[in-house]
Amino acid sequence: MQQPITWPSGSTSAFCLTFDLDAETMWIAKDAANLTRRSVLSQGAYGPKVGVPLILDLLDVNSLKATFFVPGWTAEQYPNVVSEIARRGHEVAPHGYLHEPLEGRSRAEEEDLLLRTSRILSDITGVKPVGYRAPLFEITDETVGLLREHRFLYSSNLMDTLWPYLYPGSPELVEIPVNWLLDDGVYFVFGFRPPSPRPIFPPALVLSSWKDEFRGMHTLGGAYTLVLHPQLIGRPSRLLMLQELIDYARSMPGVWFTHGAELARHMLRAAVAPSGTPARAG
Ligand SMILES: [Zn+2]
Repeated sequence: MQQPITWPSGSTSAFCLTFDLDAETMWIAKDAANLTRRSVLSQGAYGPKVGVPLILDLLDVNSLKATFFVPGWTAEQYPNVVSEIARRGHEVAPHGYLHEPLEGRSRAEEEDLLLRTSRILSDITGVKPVGYRAPLFEITDETVGLLREHRFLYSSNLMDTLWPYLYPGSPELVEIPVNWLLDDGVYFVFGFRPPSPRPIFPPALVLSSWKDEFRGMHTLGGAYTLVLHPQLIGRPSRLLMLQELIDYARSMPGVWFTHGAELARHMLRAAVAPSGTPARAG
């Protein structure tokens, strides 16, 4: 299979770092009764309180920039955390208001959630968001049209390929694909309210799985998009694991470390390349 994308500076593959700063909304969206459960909520609070500061230091040490998808409610509770993320040079983009699923909502309701959170974020950061990740990745038939109407550059929600691509039609909109395999929630979410269907995985096992996937992705020239949650990946043992993964990727020649907005802008530039050949997934 021929790789459908040319990466910048002759790179072989892309390593795209994204964080979903759900905080307490991860638990409130699962069960509204969790609003009164202080210990359950504190699991989410760990993300902005401890996870993010540790992650920002790790990113600085490695000279990496990432995308942080943030629900509007979380940004209202932790404006200083969101402004610090932006101040350190990272991208901030909407992720629902209260991490609510979009299923069964009208176009107007979906638009309100998207714009309300975008406004909250841009009021804090001074920058209009250009990317979007839906809670649980679950976009609707309306999402692409809404993102286009409000001049977003990309969505990062679907799992249909290994390479970013352009949605048919205009204005241009990029999809940066994800996969549960590279989502830390699958391995690390644990709770009794509601009960977690899985045990907690040890970091060594996850590192092994993520390294294997990276090796394969690098061979195929794809975009390796990690979906990480500060309340989960921000535990000490898992941050050590993330550092090992970054070191492993760095040991391969030709890896382009990037984030959502930068990757989307590359795709848009590639789409108007002199060859006139649009960059699309094969
Ligand atoms: Zn989320």
